[in-house]
This record gives sequence, structure tokens and C-alpha cells, in this order.
Amino acid sequence: MIRIDPHIHTVYSGDARGTPRDVLKRASLVGLDAVAIADHNTMKGSLIAMEDSAEFGVTVVPAVELSTSAGHIVALGVQEEIQRGLTPAETMDEIHSQDALAIIPHPFVRYRQGLFVNERNLRVDAVETLNSRYIVGYSNWRARKFARKRGIPEIGASDAHFVEAVGSSFTFVESENTADDIIEGIRRGRTRPEGRRTPLPLIVREVINKKLIGRMRNDI
Ligand SMILES: [Zn+2]
Ligand SMILES: [Zn+2]
Repeated sequence: MIRIDPHIHTVYSGDARGTPRDVLKRASLVGLDAVAIADHNTMKGSLIAMEDSAEFGVTVVPAVELSTSAGHIVALGVQEEIQRGLTPAETMDEIHSQDALAIIPHPFVRYRQGLFVNERNLRVDAVETLNSRYIVGYSNWRARKFARKRGIPEIGASDAHFVEAVGSSFTFVESENTADDIIEGIRRGRTRPEGRRTPLPLIVREVINKKLIGRMRNDI
């Protein structure tokens, strides 16, 4: 059984401040076995983290959070960049052609580009049913109900935009601590989400940050 926080942002996202090394350091401090850096539309942070992974004793699963035409999709276990702006179905085809997992982060959260996973024909590999950033918790509840009804594996993730939030939610996976094994464990549904909400002051800080950065770039 390993602990992974499979959805963390770094400075390469454009809306977060921590470097991949900051994330790895924090992950090892809070007792995570593995992380995935899922920056917006770039694998850069993920690739850098992979290089430094051994130094911190934390496994890194390569990932990216893609902006599709209808909301965000986290690709876990990808090897190559995938174009942003495709439809959810096209994006999932690209992900699956790399034998990676298509995970729906924060589903049903309209204001954060949550994908409404009602399109029946989408091949969703896992759903985030515990995302630390939703204070009210309604969207997590709805996501859980959806995943259980459809028999889709459940994921817990911090969606951290500050290093302090890394590991605030995470996923227990019944697997060895290698990227391939973790992906296989999630695929088979051997997961259990665990965690708590992001402390409110961190969310407030992020919103302020986003506003500042948003003046310079408007593409997140
Ligand atoms: Zn997102
Ligand atoms: Zn995210």
C-alpha cells in the first residue's frame, strides 16, 4: 500500500509558486511515497520532478492537467505532451494511446472548469472524489455518488497550488512504489481516497495570486 498525491501544481502551471523540488521536499516531509505534478497543459514540471525524484526518495508519476473544450482532464502516466483544446473524447483517445489514465479532476465544479462527466461514451479511468479544495464538499459528494454508481475508481488529491497543501488529500493505492505499478493499481480500482480540505487561508492566497497573474496571462 502506497500513498500518492496525484494532482499537484508547480510554477510551470502559471498559477502556482512552488518548484518541483519544493513539492518533492514537502512530499517526503509529510510521508507521501509518490506524487504526480499535473500542471496546466505542460509536462515540464513533471519531467523536472522525475529527474530529482531519487534524491528525495519520492516516486514521480508523469502527468499533466489538460484544458479540453469542456473542462479539465488529468492525464496520469503520459510520456508525451498532448495538445490542449481538444474535445474530452479526443483528449481521452490521446491519453489512452499512450496507455495512460484519464482522470476527471474536480468534476461538477463549474467555476473551476470541472468536466460534467455525463457524456456516457467517455472512457473515464478514475474520478477525483476527494479534492481538498472544495470547502462546501457538495461536489465531492456528487463525484463519489457518480463514481460508485458507474464503478469507476476513486482518487483523492490535494490539487495543491501551494507546497503547504501537498498531501492534504491523497490516495492509498494497493501497489508497489513504482510509476507503472501505481498506474496499474489505480486502473484496477485498488484505491482509497483519504484526506482533508485545504485550509481556507491557502485558498484565499491562491485566488489573490491568480488575480495578479491573470492580469499578465489569461489562459488558465
Ligand atoms: Zn483543474
Ligand atoms: Zn489542478
